[in-house]
Amino acid sequence: MIKKPRIVILGAGYGGMMTATRLQKANAHQDAEITLVNKHNYHYQTTWLHEPAAGTLHHDKTRMRIESVLDTNKINFIKDSVEEIKTEEKKVILGDRELEYDYLVVGLGSEPETFGIPGVTEHAFAIRSVNSVRLIREHIEYKFASYNNEDEKHDEYLTFVVAGAGFTGIEFIGELSERIPELCQEYDIDREKVKVYSVEAAPTALPGFDEELVEYAMNLLESRGVEFRINTPIKEVNENGVLLDDGEEIKAGTVVWTTGVRGNSVVEESGFETMRGRIKVEKDLRAPGFNDVFIIGDCALIINEEINRPYPPTAQIAIQQAYTCANNLRSLIAGKEDALEEFKPEIKGTVASLGGKEAIGVVGSRKLYGSSASAMKKIIDNRYLYLLGGMPLVLKKGKLNLF
Ligand code: FAD
Ligand code: NAD
Repeated sequence: MIKKPRIVILGAGYGGMMTATRLQKANAHQDAEITLVNKHNYHYQTTWLHEPAAGTLHHDKTRMRIESVLDTNKINFIKDSVEEIKTEEKKVILGDRELEYDYLVVGLGSEPETFGIPGVTEHAFAIRSVNSVRLIREHIEYKFASYNNEDEKHDEYLTFVVAGAGFTGIEFIGELSERIPELCQEYDIDREKVKVYSVEAAPTALPGFDEELVEYAMNLLESRGVEFRINTPIKEVNENGVLLDDGEEIKAGTVVWTTGVRGNSVVEESGFETMRGRIKVEKDLRAPGFNDVFIIGDCALIINEEINRPYPPTAQIAIQQAYTCANNLRSLIAGKEDALEEFKPEIKGTVASLGGKEAIGVVGSRKLYGSSASAMKKIIDNRYLYLLGGMPLVLKKGKLNLF
């Protein structure tokens, strides 16, 4: 009997899950042995994580057991942590075992970018996974709960710094500013005691985004009590809070670090050539020099040729790459190397939530804000669930209350 080629997919995020789903739909298991590896037995939607981080949504809403979405008779699932990729031996080292592959898909996502700023790893929280956001929510509640239990009042317990006013920082601060009145009520604290700072190095929040919408977002967040420190890089994080470039020190019990991402360190540590941990992939999504390794999602770097700069890593791109990657894998296992597709991102727009029923966005050439943008954001979230698991998954996990 001829041995089937082995396809190994690393990471069950947007890129990995959609690649597996596409292969499953095409019955590719008939021609290949397909294995998905992920460190948890569940898939979570990274794009929703700012909500459980602030405590406005339960984390179980953002995750689902992998076996509830994939047919494990068609796709093998291994719960384990990827430690290293050995390309020469066509092998992946996991925590508990090794796996050999004929074709590899790397979809391990990203890690927070610290830019080597002292104290970030030790003293700041990151919005990265279900585990990391559960910790942020618990920590915030602990700080509120602690405040009235000490004779000497520590106002810094109620001070929050969000580092970076990119999309992650703004979406998180939107949720946090919505949650604070509720926390104040629950823990008998005056709203005026709570301070929330959004600290941004660039001359504006959401650099590069539509100016009118940025102004809308900033005005809204300011009306909820958020204070912006714009044009002010953070120089250091320590056990007391943050030190800004202009010399100001903000004492804070909670610092959430959202100054951008880099590719998963496993990729860099496995010897691939990277830029901020990301591999600049070929047009067919393979790693340069490796005909058997595809890189998708936040580990992949692709250039927007119109402006000669990398596309920001997004779920939108990861999902689209998964379609191309699955098609290309099918071509390879069919022996049709010349049928490989080129990946062309189709950027449909950007919508960012601001907490409650507020959001901003550009979809096509239309600007959206307020409740229509918020409804659009939920439609985008639901659309992904639909692509992954059809209507049953939308009904089970979707955001059905649009307005
Ligand atoms: P991920 O979806 O992050 O998945 C990576 C997977 O790999 C995870 O399941 C993880 O557990 C697993 N993994 C990691 N390391 C290992 C290991 N060593 N071993 C085994 N498994 C491992 N993008 C948008 O397009 N629209 C948005 O609205 C949007 N909102 C966002 C909101 C937030 C709060 C954040 C943080 C990001 C947002 N993004 C958004 C960006 C988007 O989430 C990422 O670009 C996207 O998740 C990348 O997909 P991925 O498959 O590469 O990685
Ligand atoms: P980002 O790179 O978009 O924003 C990081 C921000 O941090 C930048 O504005 C940067 O100027 C600032 N910064 C950097 N160093 C700093 C410092 N020392 N002090 C203060 N500010 C500093 O990164 P992100 O917000 O983490 O997002 C990561 C990726 O996920 C991006 O590609 C983003 O587009 C995507 N994303 C998309 C959405 C959405 O579409 N709704 C939501 C969240 C994230």
